[in-house]
Amino acid sequence: MLNGDDLWCQGYSETESGSDLASLRMKAVRDGDDFVCTGHKLWTTHGHEANMIFCLVRTAQLDKPQQGITFLLIDMKASGVSVRPILSLSGEHVQNHITFDEVRVPAANVVGAVDDGWTVAKYLMEFERGGSVYSPSMRVRVARLRRFLTDEGAGSSGMTRRLSLIMADIEALDAFELQFMSSLSVGGAPGVKASMLKVIGTELSQRLTELELEGAGTYAAAWQPHLTTPGGEVPGFDPPGDNSGVGTSYTAKAMPKYLNDRAGSIYAGTNEIQRGILWRNLERSTR
Ligand SMILES: Cc1cc2nc3c(=O)[nH]c(=O)nc-3n(C[C@H](O)[C@H](O)[C@H](O)COP(=O)(O)OP(=O)(O)OC[C@H]3O[C@@H](n4cnc5c(N)ncnc54)[C@H](O)[C@@H]3O)c2cc1C
Repeated sequence: MLNGDDLWCQGYSETESGSDLASLRMKAVRDGDDFVCTGHKLWTTHGHEANMIFCLVRTAQLDKPQQGITFLLIDMKASGVSVRPILSLSGEHVQNHITFDEVRVPAANVVGAVDDGWTVAKYLMEFERGGSVYSPSMRVRVARLRRFLTDEGAGSSGMTRRLSLIMADIEALDAFELQFMSSLSVGGAPGVKASMLKVIGTELSQRLTELELEGAGTYAAAWQPHLTTPGGEVPGFDPPGDNSGVGTSYTAKAMPKYLNDRAGSIYAGTNEIQRGILWRNLERSTR
């Protein structure tokens, strides 16, 4: 994993099972030493590049929908696995549909206990939502935007004010992240703070992309994906022979970054769902 030979993707979401993940239907039936898996996953980030996928699969119908789900590692090269692209608004190919047609998977690839994959997934998701920090890269983006506005003599007093408000929020986030990371470094689990971090980090980043777009002005409207591929290649796009474009490398990135960042409040569990988790936690702790 560290040298990049192993790249795993996440197979949780299905067509009717996003926020309501426990309703998932991809099934895995035990047959000797294997599970035979049939179903469909979608939105799978980097699924076309990964060599393994960790999936939540239905192994039993029990009382609660969260029970009877198993966490299973599947080889992307296994017979019966097929991958189709989902193109994002900016035209890039990062997400995928993945279909499993009677794929045989060794039972040894189960992580945790059979029928108890929900426990594994819930713990892992805490790290997905709160396993990294947002503030350092946002500081760099603010500095770049300031430099761009100064160099171009662009921006209004309203923009400067909004940028200052964002900076104040980044400072507060930084303090929270330092506290959070120090608790992880001594073996703590992210817990409910992961939801808090995800909501604050993604929404602050979206506010920043709005300002970046505004700063870039009309240059941001030009469709020139050959100058920027923040998330991956752009299938079907034929760049001009001399690779030229309009604006600067900064303005070329503004629109793709803005469009891609819209997904921040959706993936890893939507921000509405995170607010629900936070509310329930608050209710419990004040009871
Ligand atoms: C860029 C991107 C990358 C992704 N990568 C992956 C991946 O690698 N692997 C993977 O498995 N999945 C991935 N996903 C899927 C992602 O986890 C789901 O999109 C997400 O959980 C929401 O599910 P949904 O799209 O089905 O929306 P829905 O669940 O249908 O939600 C629709 C709307 O209803 C709201 N809503 C639903 N239920 C409630 C509720 N109880 N309370 C309040 N509001 C509610 C939601 O907040 C949302 O606004 C990715 C998604 C995106 C956009």
